[in-house]
Amino acid sequence: MMEILVDATGCYQRNVEAMTLCKDASLGKPRGIETAMEQLKQTSAKAPVAKRPAKRTKVLILSGGFAGVYAALEFETLLRRRRDIEVTLVSRDNFFLFTPMLHEIAASDLEFNAIVNPLRKMLGRVDSFVGTIEQIDLTNKRVVVSHGFHQHLDDLDYDHLILALGCSTNFFNLPGIEASALSFKTLGDAVELRNRLISSIEEASSECAASERRPLLTVVVAGGGFAGVETLGAINNFVLEAIRFYPNLRGDDLRMVLVTPDELILPELGPKLGAYAQRKLLKRGIEIITRERVKAATSDGIELTNGATILSHTLIWTAGTAAHPLLARLPIPNEHGRIKVNEFFQVDGFPGLWAAGDCALIPDLVTGGFHPPAAQHAIREGRAAARNVVAEIEGGRKKPFRFSALGRLAAIGQRTGVANIFGISFSGFFAWWLWRTVYLSKLPRFEKKVRVALDWTLDLCFAKDFACIRPNGPNRAAQAGANPFCSAAEPAASQMPKIRATAARG
Ligand SMILES: Cc1cc2nc3c(=O)[nH]c(=O)nc-3n(C[C@H](O)[C@H](O)[C@H](O)COP(=O)(O)OP(=O)(O)OC[C@H]3O[C@@H](n4cnc5c(N)ncnc54)[C@H](O)[C@@H]3O)c2cc1C
Repeated sequence: MMEILVDATGCYQRNVEAMTLCKDASLGKPRGIETAMEQLKQTSAKAPVAKRPAKRTKVLILSGGFAGVYAALEFETLLRRRRDIEVTLVSRDNFFLFTPMLHEIAASDLEFNAIVNPLRKMLGRVDSFVGTIEQIDLTNKRVVVSHGFHQHLDDLDYDHLILALGCSTNFFNLPGIEASALSFKTLGDAVELRNRLISSIEEASSECAASERRPLLTVVVAGGGFAGVETLGAINNFVLEAIRFYPNLRGDDLRMVLVTPDELILPELGPKLGAYAQRKLLKRGIEIITRERVKAATSDGIELTNGATILSHTLIWTAGTAAHPLLARLPIPNEHGRIKVNEFFQVDGFPGLWAAGDCALIPDLVTGGFHPPAAQHAIREGRAAARNVVAEIEGGRKKPFRFSALGRLAAIGQRTGVANIFGISFSGFFAWWLWRTVYLSKLPRFEKKVRVALDWTLDLCFAKDFACIRPNGPNRAAQAGANPFCSAAEPAASQMPKIRATAARG
């Protein structure tokens, strides 16, 4: 039987195999190619001529962070009934991480997976491609992505590209910092920090020399912004709670230090709330060193710009951001590493190129400045960018982006918080409750909201869990020459200067 196929582009195709081997079933004898061609002509004449569908417009979103995922969610709504636009989100992880709650993972307030959502549970119409973006070729409109166990490369072409890769950590090329500090941006970072804290407590507990114990139980945080303060507030509680289970250790052995170049911590919240937060942390025994910076990490410890050296094995780095390395290489206008876009998120001079989120410098039409790098902005920017991309494809009207921050909140540990909502300041328990309520409502998906609410409830009844889970086991860490009190998943930490000199038992 002759088979006539219509391919995706609407062209007629002959099924060659069927054509050469086909037999006239009634006569039982093979028919020649000519006969088959004749039949093809006749059938073609009778068959309705399929219309060649218009070429599908391809949109690529680079990143599974706030701007990228919320752009994808907006496309889901806008393109529900349309097949002429193909949208793919490319992300290194197959999940979306809710960073405002990241410190709760490091402090064992929440289970590891409570604040991550698999992309495929969030997206249906938009495809997701899990891989590492290796190269962006703006001239040929294609992106090279490596993926799979063998890291093989794939080319993805596009008509519209939304850059939303966020930013990277800036270590300012300070000696020893990148090799030894723990950054705090990803779920892996939070797990690594939690493991480091627990391993340090274990090591300190079995360490007989008091002089060796102290550096193990000293944690230095560089940076007095939201990430630094919230992390320190949370891990201080965690370590104090865990230490109760170690008869050899006392709360006084613990030293927590925050170093900030500003006069007060949390400068984004203003002097009143910054001073409140600072007072609260000082009362808990946390040292706050203001108007100073971390200068280097050496074998003697962590050096500050005032010449002091803090003996510590754990430096948490939240002190600076830099341009994403891939974006820094692109020949597009940027300022301080952020891509300059217009109020519609378009990069001038590059048709089809858009940017949103932390990596983009978006003019703030209300203040005349630029939108800050923050999750609440990235969410709105992602959604608005998606709407403008669709408007551009359809030849519709794009809308300039306007958004004013609703407020900012920080949890500083021990059920205390600081918040500024619509210009009104709150502090103490109410601000902490507000923090939890607002962020729980913002956490995507009902399932995760329930899990987080349950974890918080259980946290009221039981002591925090401090099992140190190392995915590859301690032996592999030792084989790799890693610092013995770090997990195998801590390659950077393996370079941590080991302050220990002699270990006299005493
Ligand atoms: C600890 C912490 C706490 C925070 N708390 C708050 C808060 O309380 N409130 C607030 O408003 N903001 C907060 N922020 C800031 C907020 O997280 C960022 O502003 C927001 O994430 C920016 O969104 P984005 O989409 O621009 O970038 P990101 O969310 O950083 O997303 C970037 C994405 O790109 C992916 N990516 C990067 N490079 C590649 C590559 N080569 N290949 C593939 N994928 C890649 C990353 O994996 C990531 O998924 C916090 C940030 C941190 C780190």
